Amino acid sequence: MLSEQIFRNLCKGLAAALCVFSMHSVAKDAFELVGVSTSAGEKQSYVAQEGDIKLPVTVINGLAEGPVLLLAAGTHGDEFPAMFALQKLAQELNPQELKGTVVIIHLANLDGFHAHRLALNPKDEKNLNREFPGSKTGTATEQIAELLTREFISRIDFFIDMHSGSSNQKLLDHVYSPFVGDKKLDEMTFKFAKATGMKHIIMYGDRPRDPNNSISFPNTAMTRGKPALTTEIGHLGQRDNASIDYALTVARNALYFLAMVPGKAEPNEEVIIYKTIDYVNSEFDGFFTPLVTIGDSVKKGTVVGQVTDYFGNPVQTLQSASVGTVLMINETPPVKSGESAVAIGVVK
Ligand SMILES: [Zn+2]
Repeated sequence: MLSEQIFRNLCKGLAAALCVFSMHSVAKDAFELVGVSTSAGEKQSYVAQEGDIKLPVTVINGLAEGPVLLLAAGTHGDEFPAMFALQKLAQELNPQELKGTVVIIHLANLDGFHAHRLALNPKDEKNLNREFPGSKTGTATEQIAELLTREFISRIDFFIDMHSGSSNQKLLDHVYSPFVGDKKLDEMTFKFAKATGMKHIIMYGDRPRDPNNSISFPNTAMTRGKPALTTEIGHLGQRDNASIDYALTVARNALYFLAMVPGKAEPNEEVIIYKTIDYVNSEFDGFFTPLVTIGDSVKKGTVVGQVTDYFGNPVQTLQSASVGTVLMINETPPVKSGESAVAIGVVK
């Protein structure tokens, strides 16, 4: 059980639902994860292994009571800034001073990382973030999803799945704040999203609400009553210091928000909330040339890019169908019919 003082601090400004989660999952016993035990006040980095699955993790089990926060990188193996940020965070956190437990997954899709694959796992050509809650008898990716659901999501209170733009994709840093129709959970998730300090927040309610068909990693947590965000920081397969530092700042803000380390999460004062994303799709196979850049404001009818055929002839002019901000661009030339070339955030 949480001590009353810690409980009061933690619950200050937070929904009652959160307090219940925290009380349940907090015990300053050893923290068990995939058969490895980390004592209170200890930190361990290891490759968690089950069958053919290998997951590099760090568990920082604080001496004092508090919530369990999961931070994951590499759900898509070509999205690097969060991997470096979480390596730094794992090194800087002191379990003697931490309240609660931080679980870091350094690379959720290790095979995709080593195969230089854009989002997919080479063992079965599947996207891990579409295979939850997974299956123990399924394909390689389905088995990873099942292990993450069973061993990780079941043991945590809060989650941030930390992504970037893929190797072909430019994006404006943003955070998805999902909602699932549970008022307390949705409100807490939105507070958590604001506490990251990120400027661009996308409300996202499109995922199934059935825990047995949760599809994505964060939605697996949400459909089990646990606030879960997706951050998108950095892009184009880069590992620039600005994006790494920003991902680290966002992770630290989550720790401040949950009162796991001393400090204060400073919400962004210029936060912009989007109600949806409109995708502008190509109708042809060929080359895409963007004519806007991320962060640009667009109106209905603004030309956002051009599609040319394999011989250089223009075949389609892409226009925005809404008023909004350019959040993502397919920056590299190849485009196929039906693929989205530009994503427009539509302001709430
Ligand atoms: Zn991703």
